[in-house]
Amino acid sequence: MTEVTMEKIVSLAKRRGFIYPGSEIYGGLSGFWDYGPLGLELKNNIKNLWWRMFVQERDDMYGVDAAIIMQKKAWEASGHVAGFSDPVVECKKCKRRFRADHVSIKYQKNELGKILAGKEKWVCENCGADNEKFEVRQFNMMFKTYVGPTEDESSTSYLRPETAGGIFVNFKNIIDSFHPKLPFGMAQIGKAFRNEIAPRDFVFRAREFEQMEIEYFVREKEWKESFEIWREQSLGFLKSIGVEKSSIHELEVSPEDRAHYSKRTIDFEFDFPFGRKELFGLAYRTDFDLSRHEASSGVELKYLEEGEGKFIPHVIEPSFGVERIILAVLQTAYTEDTLGKEARTYLKFNPAVAPVKAAVFPLLKNKPELVAKAREVYTSLKKNVPQIMWDDNGNIGKRYRRQDEIGTPVCITIDFQTLEDDTVTVRDRDTGKQERVSVSELEQQIKVN
Ligand SMILES: [Zn+2]
Repeated sequence: MTEVTMEKIVSLAKRRGFIYPGSEIYGGLSGFWDYGPLGLELKNNIKNLWWRMFVQERDDMYGVDAAIIMQKKAWEASGHVAGFSDPVVECKKCKRRFRADHVSIKYQKNELGKILAGKEKWVCENCGADNEKFEVRQFNMMFKTYVGPTEDESSTSYLRPETAGGIFVNFKNIIDSFHPKLPFGMAQIGKAFRNEIAPRDFVFRAREFEQMEIEYFVREKEWKESFEIWREQSLGFLKSIGVEKSSIHELEVSPEDRAHYSKRTIDFEFDFPFGRKELFGLAYRTDFDLSRHEASSGVELKYLEEGEGKFIPHVIEPSFGVERIILAVLQTAYTEDTLGKEARTYLKFNPAVAPVKAAVFPLLKNKPELVAKAREVYTSLKKNVPQIMWDDNGNIGKRYRRQDEIGTPVCITIDFQTLEDDTVTVRDRDTGKQERVSVSELEQQIKVN
């Protein structure tokens, strides 16, 4: 079995144009990453498959794309201004700040699970100074900004730390425009920002990231049933992109550890090279969010049902981090083996997420008749399967290795026989096996979504 390390994934991701460190020519900026051509295609495939499964193929889901910056009051109502913070301690000598729970495990928590104080002494891992006191401060992780020309308290706002807020503030709009019947959901894919004290583990804990979130509104008595359905459907989505249920571990979050308003939360964890960590989450948030926004905005956020009257619906929230899923997909796909006595590294992507569905080559690039025929095949396929790559660089063996490494499921070679009978060689990424396929059947063979 292949030992998959972060070094191997990070190195392949950079070398082959998936993910680069942000602001790299200036020495980088911790917690920010840039996507190259292949990483972007991979990311778009994952987002598009999610959107199709959870929004387009359903009749009970409403998509939104809300503004990233919202009224400060919305973040006060959601509890983020007061409570979206990590406990930190500051080194007296170098002033570097650390997460309190990274410095000490012997701390006391208050009833909301916030770290209050820890052991008396701790050693700074940056400068080695002995710190006598363990003074905990709360550090709000929202990025602060100013809206408009004045920089004062009244113009302060934040880059959203999660996409869910933009869903709740549009609840009334969806009710008014579409009159949906309960249960129904609202979905959003978009960027979110958290000023993490310690960004780490490649794209796993970054300061700018993307979320795919659903708020599924139900009657209170339906929550358990709906929660189970979402648990299965969430796992079904992961399976459809190549991450099997068997590699996911469900952690039932205990009452002390979950948010006070949540009556049930499951963290779905994955064995990353740096440990078992959360891949996505599912939470029953009761009617907390809409109630808070109703109280704070003064706008009624109730649902009117025949015979039942008005009430605030309860909500089930499946929440996915796009980058964490990308990382799990990359790790699952990363394979080292030997093919034809030659060691190789390849990405065994499920074709649905593969950034390139097929590569097309002329056998020789100095034979105009082969190049012309290959171009014809390539152009024709690209019309309906846009994720097709042209490659005529180096010999065939090198092209195969290169395509294997970026996870292209099949390579199509146009050779002299093609000119006679209109068949091509189709070579399979995983087995290396080749077969002759008629040009007219190619599209059918490579079309996966
Ligand atoms: Zn220090």
